[in-house]
Amino acid sequence: MGSKVYFIEASVDDGHNVISEKARKVFKAGGFADCFSENDFTAVKVHVGEDGNNTYIKAPYIKGLVDELVGLKTKPFVTDTTTLYVGHRHNAVDHTILAAKHGFSVDGLGIPFVAPDGLFGTSETAVKINGQINKKEVYIANDIIKSQSILSVAHVTGHVAAGLGATLKTLGMGCASKKGKMKQHAALTLNISDDCTRCGVCYDHCPADAITIDDVKAHINQDKCIGCAECMAMCRFGAVTCNWGLETDVLQKSIAEHALGTLKGKEKKTTFFNFMLSVTKDCDCFDTPNMRTIVEDIGIIASTDPVAVDKAALDMVENTSGKKLAELLGNYELDTSCQIAHGESIGLGSSIYELVEIN
Ligand code: SF4
Ligand code: SF4
Repeated sequence: MGSKVYFIEASVDDGHNVISEKARKVFKAGGFADCFSENDFTAVKVHVGEDGNNTYIKAPYIKGLVDELVGLKTKPFVTDTTTLYVGHRHNAVDHTILAAKHGFSVDGLGIPFVAPDGLFGTSETAVKINGQINKKEVYIANDIIKSQSILSVAHVTGHVAAGLGATLKTLGMGCASKKGKMKQHAALTLNISDDCTRCGVCYDHCPADAITIDDVKAHINQDKCIGCAECMAMCRFGAVTCNWGLETDVLQKSIAEHALGTLKGKEKKTTFFNFMLSVTKDCDCFDTPNMRTIVEDIGIIASTDPVAVDKAALDMVENTSGKKLAELLGNYELDTSCQIAHGESIGLGSSIYELVEIN
């Protein structure tokens, strides 16, 4: 038997309104209204799409879901955390402007975009967990922890290091503060580029005394750095850069453990949607238009089990394409099941599921 995963066929060719109504149909068929109560602050976790990207899950696709939450008299808000990399989502101001440009706003959806990790991505709650990688705590955006319920909307894509980008990655990486993101990229190191103006802000904020400034620019002492990302968060010149190492095992397990932190205390208060439309090789953080897809459009699935909904997404991508995800991503070494297996082992959910098809 396993956890129920509700599925409806859909394609971007259906158009915004039909996709929205199909998602709403899944919401109703799954009885997901039971997860939300009147006056809940409900975090509708989305990815607004990097500037230039045009394959992200569009705001109108989720209008029906938002209307359902409004009808239940919750206080929903669309939300996403700031990024480690320097782009249009690096701080709350730029992120909110981009969200509005892409329709994730009061004008577009009737509900506001709220940056849950504050202006610089440092507003966080340390959530105690007993994980394999994160033995004591993980760092999650404050306002996601403070909200009473979560409706997660993930775009299923490939990912260069994590293999699958879907619900677990949305909850783990996508809900973490900058420090939480740094912890997930354990093998990642920060460096300071020639864009440094020697303003000294990073020096003032570094809690580990790891930054020095010479006549040319600031430098990070890697032996002292604790990876808190404070310097990256505070630098207004985008001079703090990082190398994206492919520490895939540690990364995937840490993603699952951060997802556990995100959901802690919200039992029976969460619903997870995976949109398998425009399933691109890389995630929506890329600013590239018309990215290559790895499988034809499949549809929308949803569940109250984050592991089951990701296992179903992985299976449906592989069954539809006739290829393993690692092969679709061109990296035969990549273990694309690690995130799901670790999520199951730490009690996030079950990889055994029953697919309920909706017509
Ligand atoms: S905050 Fe940025 S620009 Fe200022 S010293 Fe540090 S790295 Fe250089
Ligand atoms: S990541 Fe944190 S500890 Fe490392 S240099 Fe930046 S501010 Fe200092």
